[in-house]
Order: sequence, then structure tokens, then C-alpha cells
Amino acid sequence: MPVSKKIQGMLSRSSWIRKMFEEGLLLRQKLGPENVFDFSLGNPNVPPPIEFDSALRDVAGQTLPGQHGYMPNAGYPETREAIAGYLGRKFKVPLTFEHIIMTCGAAGALNVTMKTILDPGDEVIIPTPYFVEYGFYVDNAGGVARLVPTKEDFGLDLEAIRSAFTERTRAVLINSPNNPTGRVYDAETIRGLAAILEEKERLYNRAVYLVSDEPYNEIVYDGVELPSIMEFCRNSIIAYSYSKCLSVPGERIGYLALHPELAELKDVLGGMIFCNRILGFINAPALMQRVISRIQGVQVNVGEYQWKRDLLCEGLRSCGYTFAKPEGTFYLFVRSPVDDDVAYVRALQKRGILTTPGVGFGGPGYFRIAYCVDDATIRNALPGFAETMMESGG
Ligand code: PLP
Repeated sequence: MPVSKKIQGMLSRSSWIRKMFEEGLLLRQKLGPENVFDFSLGNPNVPPPIEFDSALRDVAGQTLPGQHGYMPNAGYPETREAIAGYLGRKFKVPLTFEHIIMTCGAAGALNVTMKTILDPGDEVIIPTPYFVEYGFYVDNAGGVARLVPTKEDFGLDLEAIRSAFTERTRAVLINSPNNPTGRVYDAETIRGLAAILEEKERLYNRAVYLVSDEPYNEIVYDGVELPSIMEFCRNSIIAYSYSKCLSVPGERIGYLALHPELAELKDVLGGMIFCNRILGFINAPALMQRVISRIQGVQVNVGEYQWKRDLLCEGLRSCGYTFAKPEGTFYLFVRSPVDDDVAYVRALQKRGILTTPGVGFGGPGYFRIAYCVDDATIRNALPGFAETMMESGG
């Protein structure tokens, strides 16, 4: 087999999300598309804002010299400047264009980060449940993921994180609002986490970074406050993506923002720009950089997701499902009525309902519903959710 043993192993363990998505395609053929309710993939269904469409039209209509050419690996200075201005005002941190590196989404940003900061064997603490791709990103850079369970309510367990540190810990990787739980970490939690990082930096006499993966930043509900990581932690790196806030995941556009007082700032920036190149990204897509520099602060209508969340939560609660109501994202992490979440997901699948087992996020005993779907999909799936619950005896 020409595929390496390592990749073969990863493939067999790899993403449940993709697996369910692909099985859904087959199920559509078998049951008919109208009888399949696909909650497997976080592919936003709320349309991009009109500001995005008109900026795209403007930019596409321009002819500038060299507009399709190579550029600095960090991206266009004007785009970075626009982002730095927007974030600086939002986070009250003196950011300049030099602190921003344009990337191919958050996935690109995280791979660049890990490649830059990890020596082989360095450890990254990751609270679970988590976005499973993190494990692969850390491994891509020769690092080791140290998985640390969150508390019952999916809040960070700061004591468990403190205990997971070793002299090889280089970063803590968090994601709030969280995929898959929808949980938002409050200011007190971030302050506590930042204090642990400082304590461990002193103890081991080396930089430890708080890497904050923030593709769902704008998708928060009920006026929940999302604290700024940079306000609390000097050694913070933000990995951002426009995929979800603009509903454009296929366009692969995001950035890295580094705190102006980050340890070894210049070296880390230089390393990241180099890694953007050698990982094969070279630079983030030129057209998209020009588009997003015009629409900082623009986002999809989050009210539509909140409506879907409420529709789903009320519907599932009335059939007896239990869960913590998400504060953000477009995911609901539901307790499986039977211990075996894979078996339960298979039972739902028999009724045409595609979800993802919690085990695929390091959170067994739950399953994830991505509710970035039409309202009709939610409504029409509810009888199947109710029947599966009754059948399970839950
Ligand atoms: N991080 C989290 C938590 C995600 O859910 C996703 C995508 O779903 C990503 C990173 C990757 O984002 P992108 O595809 O925009 O790079």
C-alpha cells in the first residue's frame, strides 16, 4: 500500500463528521433526499451578508497591476492594517499590521502556529470535547496533544489543566465559543487560565502560549459577552476564520493575530510567515484578502441561528433529550439516551437523521447536532428524534 502506515492509521480513526456526511450521500440515494435530515457538517446555511456580495463584485470589477501575483507571505499590508485597526479597537490592544498574518482559514492558522512553536515531542494541552482536527494539526508539527476533560458543564477545569502541564508544554489550545458544545468561557475563566500560564512559564522558564481558536466569535446568543483573550493574556495567539461569520468556508480566508507583548514576538512572527510559505499555503487567497479588508465587523444574521437553536432545543426537550443550551456556535451537544453514542447515532440514522457521535470529539456519551440547516430540516426531523428516543427506552 503506497499510503504510509501513519496515515492509514489516521484515516481509520479520522473524522466521524466526514464519515457521517459521506454516509448521508448514500442515504439520500436510498431514502430520497426529502427523507434525510443532515446535521453532520458545520457548513453554514445562512447566506453571506449583502456587504460581502457587493465587496466581492467591486473587487472583481477592479483591474490593478499585479493583482493576481505573489505577495508577501503574511498577506497584503492594507488588509492586515484594516484587521489590526478593527481588532485593536475591539480588544483595546495596540495592534498594528505587523501583528496580523493572513492565513487559509483557521485550519491554516493553527497548522502554521503549531509548525512554528513546536519542537518534536512538545506538548499542547487541549480541553475535551474538542474539534478533533486539532490532534492532527499538532501531530503534523511533531507535537503531542494532551487531552484534558472539561467539567460536567463543559466549562474549563483549570485545576486539571494546571496538573497536565509538564516541562514540555508549549501551548494550551482553547476554542470558545466551542465546537461541539456551544460553550463560551467567561472572563474569570480566561483570567484564571492566563494566571496558570504565567505560573508555569516561571516554573519551567520557557514561553507557553495561549492559542485561541475563534472561528465562531460572532455567533453568540442572548447577549452573552465573549471576553477578549488579549485583554487577559500577554502570550496569546488568536487563530481566526471568516468561514462562519461570513458563511464562506470554501473561500479559505482567516488570520493569525499575535499580542504585541507576546514572548519572542519577532521570532514567532518571522517563523509563522515562513511556515505559511513552507506548508504550501504561500499566502491566503488574494481576492478574498481584498474583499474582507472592506467589510471588517460585518457578519451574517446571527438571529437566524438563534432562532434555529431555540426551535431545536424546544423540540428536543419536549421529547425528553437533555443538554446544556448552547451560548454560541451552531452546534448542540446532546446527552445520548444510551451509553453507546455510536449505537444511538446509528439508530437515528435508520430514520434518516445524521448526527455525529460524541466519541468523534473526545466526548463519548453525547452526540452533536449541527443546526446550520433549514428550519424545515429541524421540524421534519423532530418526529424521528422522538421515535428513536422512545425506542431506546430513554
Ligand atoms: N476550528 C474549529 C473549532 C472549527 O469548527 C473549524 C471548522 O469547522 C475550524 C477550526 C476550521 O475552520 P476553517 O475551515 O475556517 O479553517
